[in-house]
Amino acid sequence: MTVYLTGAGPGPVDLLTLRAADVLKRAEAVFHDRLANADILELVAKGAQLVDVGKRPGEPQPQQQINEMLIDAGRRFDCVVRLKGGDPFVFGRGGEEALALRQAGIRYEIIPGITSAIAVPAYAGIPVTHRNTARHFTVVTGHNMQAGDDVDWAALAQAGGTIVILMGVSQRARIAAALVDGGMATDTPVASVQWGTRVEQKTVRTTLSSLGAVDIAPPAVIVVGNVAALDLEWFDPASTGTTPQS
Ligand code: SAH
Repeated sequence: MTVYLTGAGPGPVDLLTLRAADVLKRAEAVFHDRLANADILELVAKGAQLVDVGKRPGEPQPQQQINEMLIDAGRRFDCVVRLKGGDPFVFGRGGEEALALRQAGIRYEIIPGITSAIAVPAYAGIPVTHRNTARHFTVVTGHNMQAGDDVDWAALAQAGGTIVILMGVSQRARIAAALVDGGMATDTPVASVQWGTRVEQKTVRTTLSSLGAVDIAPPAVIVVGNVAALDLEWFDPASTGTTPQS
């Protein structure tokens, strides 16, 4: 009857909203992503269908197929959860799924989640805005950089503020070059935060000129701007109870 497009937050179960936890407990079917944490999936009742629709490199689950699975489940069950990392409407394709459900006449609700775009920098002690330093922030994907990017990196370079890049690890050298071409200083501070909020969290601080050479792997959030140089680290990953990713 209702499909809940639900944000799972960046990882730890206690960064889930109460509303997300509630629908996970009631769900008869849960469609989750690859990044979904095992601790969160443990909330799901025994007997409920648990479907991994994570898009892995090499074996992609087409979005169209996911839409059809949600529509089908929405017809058969009272409570269906589509669980997505972070917030469902931040690079989560939640909008596309909502459109498909609407077209099929299936009721849906959006349950916002804590997005990695803000929470991951926060766990590295980086505020995305800071008085007098960063009056705005842009969240941008680095994913399309290879195939004729439609992001205007030069305009972002000119705009100032903080630039928060998701899905940017593989293209980090090109992104840095595009920002420098656009007029950003080569010594602009950059922080790359891998597996933020989790026990494996690793932060590497650098500058735009060295970003391409930095040893970092996905998933990571890359923060460009003066806030990336603030020394406010507080999180000790070893002290979390989060189950390490396999
Ligand atoms: N909807 C999600 C983003 C999906 S795009 C959200 O709101 O957070 C996936 C990208 O998010 C990853 O490539 C990475 O850039 C970022 N990401 C998600 N979880 C992360 C984490 N725990 N640590 C670092 N980056 C993360």
